Amino acid sequence: MATKAKIKKARSAKSKSKKAKPTKSKPATVKAAKAVRAKAKPMADIDFRTSEGGKKTIAAAAIEALSAGLRGKVVDQFAPNYDEARTIWNAMIDRRPGLIVRCAGAADVIDSVRFARDNGLLVAVRGGGHNIGGSAVCDGGVVIDLSQMKSVRVDPATKRAWVEPGATLADVDKETQAFGLAVPTGINSTTGIAGLTLGGGFGWITRKFGLTIDNLLSADVVTADGKLVRANAKENPDLFWALRGGGGNFGVITAFEFQLHQLGPQVLAGLVVHPFEHAASLLKDYRRIIASAPDELTCWVVMRKAPPLPFLPAEWHGKEILVLAMCYSGDIKAGEKATAELRALGKPIADVVGPAPFAAWQQAFDPLLTPGARNYWKSHDFTQLSDGAITLLLDAVHHLPGPECEIFIGHVGGAAGRVALDATAFPQRNAHFVMNVHARWRETSMDKTCISWARKLFDAAAPHATGTAYVNFMPGDEADRVEAAYGANYSRLTQVKYRYDPSNLFRINQNVRPAG
Ligand SMILES: Cc1cc2nc3c(=O)[nH]c(=O)nc-3n(C[C@H](O)[C@H](O)[C@H](O)COP(=O)(O)OP(=O)(O)OC[C@H]3O[C@@H](n4cnc5c(N)ncnc54)[C@H](O)[C@@H]3O)c2cc1C
Repeated sequence: MATKAKIKKARSAKSKSKKAKPTKSKPATVKAAKAVRAKAKPMADIDFRTSEGGKKTIAAAAIEALSAGLRGKVVDQFAPNYDEARTIWNAMIDRRPGLIVRCAGAADVIDSVRFARDNGLLVAVRGGGHNIGGSAVCDGGVVIDLSQMKSVRVDPATKRAWVEPGATLADVDKETQAFGLAVPTGINSTTGIAGLTLGGGFGWITRKFGLTIDNLLSADVVTADGKLVRANAKENPDLFWALRGGGGNFGVITAFEFQLHQLGPQVLAGLVVHPFEHAASLLKDYRRIIASAPDELTCWVVMRKAPPLPFLPAEWHGKEILVLAMCYSGDIKAGEKATAELRALGKPIADVVGPAPFAAWQQAFDPLLTPGARNYWKSHDFTQLSDGAITLLLDAVHHLPGPECEIFIGHVGGAAGRVALDATAFPQRNAHFVMNVHARWRETSMDKTCISWARKLFDAAAPHATGTAYVNFMPGDEADRVEAAYGANYSRLTQVKYRYDPSNLFRINQNVRPAG
């Protein structure tokens, strides 16, 4: 049987000989690459981590048997694309899975779940790879990677979409907006629809149309026993309840069915950028105006140092600013009216609010949220922005530790707030604002400074917050906060977990412990 060392040597010899004789034409290069790949087999034995924290070696023959049965591909540590396949959005996360299974469909997911379960291996599930705590990957375990499953099918007649779990928000917007339809999601288009949906999902049109989960009609789920089930209001309703906010605890979703709404393709949206020196009065005026905003109007506050955006005069770059980022999900003229009071506040540096294609507005923050930076988040829910909370926010912005650090105040409520607290697992129906303290930097030497800054504001703001939390904004060190985050819904979640995943196979997430 081939040993790891032998295989490594063989592969490195291959790559050296490839360097020595460069191929001239593209087809020849492709041929050579394919030959290397083919000859790279057989695979090596792999030392895995078990779900209980031990070690287990799986023989190459068993890995090959798994691989041979897939439509997708396995990626082990010797594969040329191993580093690419284990890299996720947050550069703080550097984990080395034993095996990454890039699934092509539900059958591959079933095979992967059975392989991991039968061998007692640690499992992580990857959608778009955006989770801040890095739950898409695990050291030494099996990553069930859904990122290649990107299909989005829309039926304009019934206003429904069927979405695979590797689709990003941009993929969903592209297909739905082709018919002037939309489902509420988040504000960064490279985020995965899967993880976002399972945690709840909110963004620019949530106040009008509800959370992403409020528009989920059904899901296909591979459960821990390796079986595919349907969850909706009639079939497995307890599972359907738990999937809507309970995260990746209950199985692997291979397809989501969403209700769509008529929107756009043009909406009124954009940014009003203010000097930070007027932030105290602006935040109080914002609070007053937003208290009676129609569901169509959503306005988030972003506080940070000004990035070098083309519409901002150069003298403002690098200085603290307060941004009112707004979107009106309705008629453009009505939007002009509804946003007028907010846009009349103070003396802005720039006002770039206007009609824009909804799909383009969904990507407006992408340039500031690219993958590859180090990121750490702390988040609280607020029913209101108290004077005390505002004072703390102002102080934190005066002590921003870097040019990319920022504080987002997400504006929710509206339709999302009118769903009963126990109708889904999502615990934050009473929140009107979700604060995300977003520390973001490049150098490892800044880790301590940036993380401390986020934690300091988080700790100080706790008395002003509800105590619930958005699980999708929780970093990896908040495992002890999960129960409080779910509040009254936690107990029921533990029971559904026990029914569908009694051995806690799906534990690399904001983990709900099974309770029989
Ligand atoms: C830059 C940025 C902006 C964001 N903005 C918003 C926003 O505006 N609104 C909002 O609501 N959220 C937002 N989020 C948070 C986002 O919802 C979470 O990061 C979410 O986990 C991303 O999902 P993903 O599929 O990309 O992540 P992944 O890291 O791939 O998945 C996260 C977890 O979800 C589970 N999971 C994923 N796919 C499946 C599946 N098919 N079956 C079972 N479990 C699965 C797994 O436990 C997995 O570890 C943002 C995140 C980032 C990084």
